[in-house]
Amino acid sequence: MAIEICAVGGYNEVGKNMTAVKVGDDVVILDMGVQLDNYIKVQDEREGADLMDAKALIRNNAIPNDKVLEKWKDKVKLIICTHAHLDHIGALPYLAEKYDCPIMGTPYTIEVLKTICRENKQKLKNPLKPLNKNSKHKISENITVEFISVTHSTPQTVLLALHTKEGAILYANDYKFDMFPVLEKKTNFNRLKELENVRVLIVESLYANEAMKMPSESVAKAMLKDVILGTSSEGRAIIISTFSSHLARLSSIIKYSKQLNRKIMFVGRSLAKYVEAGEKINIINFTKDVEVAKYGSEIKRKLKKVEKERDKYVIVSTGHQGEPKAALTRIADDEFDFKLQKGDHIIFSCRVIPAPINMANRKALEKKLDKKQVRMFKDIHVSGHGAREDLRDLMAFTKPGHIIPTHGDIKLRKALADLAVSIGYKLKKNVHLLKNGQKIKL
Ligand SMILES: [Zn+2]
Repeated sequence: MAIEICAVGGYNEVGKNMTAVKVGDDVVILDMGVQLDNYIKVQDEREGADLMDAKALIRNNAIPNDKVLEKWKDKVKLIICTHAHLDHIGALPYLAEKYDCPIMGTPYTIEVLKTICRENKQKLKNPLKPLNKNSKHKISENITVEFISVTHSTPQTVLLALHTKEGAILYANDYKFDMFPVLEKKTNFNRLKELENVRVLIVESLYANEAMKMPSESVAKAMLKDVILGTSSEGRAIIISTFSSHLARLSSIIKYSKQLNRKIMFVGRSLAKYVEAGEKINIINFTKDVEVAKYGSEIKRKLKKVEKERDKYVIVSTGHQGEPKAALTRIADDEFDFKLQKGDHIIFSCRVIPAPINMANRKALEKKLDKKQVRMFKDIHVSGHGAREDLRDLMAFTKPGHIIPTHGDIKLRKALADLAVSIGYKLKKNVHLLKNGQKIKL
């Protein structure tokens, strides 16, 4: 029985991940994400409507062009998402209903998807099926999917093993190998090493060109401790901004803010959204220690309260990439009663995503912050993506027959292909550099 793999999105770029796998007469779709910069651009230009036009999003390279799946459409049995990041689930509201099948993910991923749909005022026709990490589900006679838990920068991320009579298809997009994770357990290495006959590995390429092992999240935690507890902030306001879906990072921020004897206020819609999802499935209990300000009027009201005790709080805010409408930019623009003062601390627990729009937005924000004479602490961060040595480990553990690099432009995917070649694989024979819209039979 032939295995056919279709590269739908994420093969020409970082983002809008989507891959389809056909085994016999059954098809499964892996991830359906947005390309964030393009998505935000379209979002900023539109007016009104809650849900954007799928065709316009495809035209602007904001979501995958799934036209290539036209002939497979009626064979799709399941859409599976690896984790809750928007570049893996963000296109579901626009594309999923074309396929008459359920959507499967870990409970956290499904909960975040529900929140997104609620915000869009949309009810997806596809049934939503949560599956716990480290468990299996039989999709059809030809395919059984297994969720293998892995570390990344949002909870309940999994590697997907599609078991078939011809061997397993392993989909590792995204992951890193963190031996000292902060919120969850380590990767299920035992299961990964046990996998037999991995026919093909489809794997992310984001940091394939970095000759290193990606440091653990506990390193980011230590950096946060150092900057929160190791600098003198008496009498100063502290604002920290990080990725809203990074619950492990947020838990470290809460820990050290409490040690500083400050109250904690989360400000911004997306922070509220991911915290809500995590609390709903009981993997966190942040609101025990944290007050959340979600909407415009609520943010206004609560920041007014913070202003009165400005050195008794740590504000955790959205807007680390300088997004013009996010809370941090609006604070810097003096839109609230809470005003920045000389010597206040602004901690960026993130890196600037190297896309022109992000770099321009952050530069503009930093300029405003500089004018206020605040103290900035940048790059208090480690990535959730594996680098070259994590990728080498994954290949060594699973010994795949074929390797297909994904989640990256040609430069990044080529770096991963070069690594595979250096350990004995051969380009075109068993390492395949695909483009969006291309299919390959293995
Ligand atoms: Zn991710």
